[in-house]
Amino acid sequence: MTIDIIGGGIGGLTTGIALKRKGFTVRIFEQASELKNVGAGIVLANNAMQVYKRLGLSDEITSKGNTISQINIVDQKFKIISNTNLQYFEKKHNLKNVAIHRAVLQQILINQFSEEELFLDHKLESIVLGNTISTLKFENGKTYLSELVVGADGIYSKVRTCLFDAVQLRKANQLCWRGMLKFDLPKEYQQKAIEGWGNNTRFGFVQLNKGLVYWYALKSGQKQTTMRIEDFKEYGSLVTKMIKVTKDIHLSEISDIQPFKNWSVGNVCLLGDAAHATTPNLGQGACQAIEDAYVLAACFKKNKNRTKVFDEYESIRIKKAHKVVTTSWQVGKIAHLSNPLLRTIRDFLLRITPGFVNRKQLETLFKIHELE
Ligand SMILES: Cc1cc2nc3c(=O)[nH]c(=O)nc-3n(C[C@H](O)[C@H](O)[C@H](O)COP(=O)(O)OP(=O)(O)OC[C@H]3O[C@@H](n4cnc5c(N)ncnc54)[C@H](O)[C@@H]3O)c2cc1C
Repeated sequence: MTIDIIGGGIGGLTTGIALKRKGFTVRIFEQASELKNVGAGIVLANNAMQVYKRLGLSDEITSKGNTISQINIVDQKFKIISNTNLQYFEKKHNLKNVAIHRAVLQQILINQFSEEELFLDHKLESIVLGNTISTLKFENGKTYLSELVVGADGIYSKVRTCLFDAVQLRKANQLCWRGMLKFDLPKEYQQKAIEGWGNNTRFGFVQLNKGLVYWYALKSGQKQTTMRIEDFKEYGSLVTKMIKVTKDIHLSEISDIQPFKNWSVGNVCLLGDAAHATTPNLGQGACQAIEDAYVLAACFKKNKNRTKVFDEYESIRIKKAHKVVTTSWQVGKIAHLSNPLLRTIRDFLLRITPGFVNRKQLETLFKIHELE
């Protein structure tokens, strides 16, 4: 059986690998003519790394990225508001959270495929459902018949718009600039992900590997397209210096999809951002797509009937994926409070939150559904 995947992002590529490991044949159709990624980093949390361990990729990812053992939320003066120590989970799963350049991760994933499995320059134009076979039409004029389709084509998924009810895309009213620079952070920050919370802004940074740092900066609002260093002056000279020397800065508008049910129809299902795009406030969007990939492949192996496969996949994944979307949305609102009194109360409450509460929440977040 051949399974066709629309979209060669982290979700689509990881699904392809997970399916291949279970003995399936895959074809991945990607709109881009070459797979080059936005100049940014990504943090793969312990749950994603558990999946990559099962796929035999965790050692390579760890060796090509930088391990992160603490997550610090700090104020503008870098005073800690919340400190999450990840050592408990590192010991429990014998794995660390890894910060890595997106292009490096993508290359590790692409290396798992032959040329015959990756169809670049294939932008899906339409998909028509048949009783057992769907017809995939691409903008390059090519048409393919498909027994099983996975729509991993991101938040604006063509697969979803062709076959599913309209979903509600939600703008978070936050802009996010991202950049990378050749730099080594002060030693105390090298194994940490730091996120500063200011007045309607956030600034986060992490070391990706020796000599390479990734940062992201968020600001409430939707109109401004050029980043202004003045908006982030409150974080001090380390931050302004990093912004100043960064050559390429990419802007994204933060949005998600209001959680919805029924991720499949006929022989087609949705995965990753196409099914449950989230704001990036928990750093879990890709991690959830990676969990989807692992569960979907295991469900394909276990069940002969495609309806059973899709029902089981959705029933295992939906609760956690939706919880991430909802919690992340709330965190984004709390992080951008503009009222100084509310900010003080927020910071106080976060400072007195005992470590075991954080750990309990992470226990749920990092737990992946075990399947053969
Ligand atoms: C600022 C920011 C920071 C983030 N940081 C993190 C983080 O630290 N950790 C984390 O886990 N997540 C993070 N995320 C979220 C993460 O990037 C996404 O959740 C993840 O990339 C989703 O993967 P995906 O494969 O489902 O979708 P995408 O990455 O969107 O990939 C979809 C693919 O489908 C292709 N495609 C689209 N339409 C078509 C078509 N019609 N035909 C063919 N191909 C098509 C696209 O070209 C793309 O390659 C962040 C997101 C943002 C915005």
